[in-house]
Amino acid sequence: MTQATLYVVATPIGNLGDITLRALEVLKDVDAIAAEDTRHTSGLLSHFGISKKLIAVHEHNEQQSAQLLLTRLQAGESIALVTDAGTPGISDPGAVVVQALHNAGIKVVPVPGPSAVIAALSASGITENGFSFIGFLPASGSQRRKALTAYQAIPHTLVFYEAPHRIVESIVDMANTLGGERQLTIARELTKTFETIHRCALSDAQAWLESDTNQQRGEFVLLVEAALKQADVKVSKEAEQTLRSLLAELPLKQAVKLASEITDAKKNDLYQLALTLKNQD
Ligand code: SAM
Repeated sequence: MTQATLYVVATPIGNLGDITLRALEVLKDVDAIAAEDTRHTSGLLSHFGISKKLIAVHEHNEQQSAQLLLTRLQAGESIALVTDAGTPGISDPGAVVVQALHNAGIKVVPVPGPSAVIAALSASGITENGFSFIGFLPASGSQRRKALTAYQAIPHTLVFYEAPHRIVESIVDMANTLGGERQLTIARELTKTFETIHRCALSDAQAWLESDTNQQRGEFVLLVEAALKQADVKVSKEAEQTLRSLLAELPLKQAVKLASEITDAKKNDLYQLALTLKNQD
């Protein structure tokens, strides 16, 4: 264990078997563990038979905690930073502490592991490479819709975290602002007993969630397919919808031919769009 070092340690997002060997090693060997919720972390540590001094680092006292940790690190201690679940600093406390310690010249070492955003992306089947991680949307409806409007044209997959009590209203706002035809992946309770990964059009998600209220429980990651790049948008929404329906039933070439006969869109433009849609499936 290197002295005067802060280790940023990822912990499981549900299944305790996802802790890494290196995380266990670091948690055993450091002088102290800085934790978002010391009671929660005590539970994790006792599961793995680790007993260690815990220091509370909440979102509202991160700056003060950084000073306290700095004093200990400057005295030569090594400290691990953890949150309740997943990777510190990702929609969680941690970044303020890490920034302050960097500024003070302290060595910061990541110990990577679970994070809900990466777990959800890995099991989504989304082929587009880029993604924009948004995290939590504002709790107020009007602020949320304003934020979503700003994300409308981002040509990457959008990744959101959402709480169960806001899941339906957020999805309705997403459908209305981002477009109901976009593909949504709902990744719920990842690595836990009721893990569910459901893919549907944004406009169909409300009905799916309301058809079984159990699907509104737990923790959620929402992935919304990328907005088509401006250069790609050459066909009307109606023509795109026709093409999507035909693509669901027919081979690509036949779907494009038929869509071009039904709508006034050019075959070439429909073909390009069909390729994009197929790649996003
Ligand atoms: N730092 C964590 C990470 O690396 O994923 C995120 C912490 S944030 C406070 C908690 C949110 O992450 C939840 O509200 C949910 O949106 C998402 N999340 C965490 N665990 C999850 C899980 N097992 N399944 C789905 N989403 C999860």
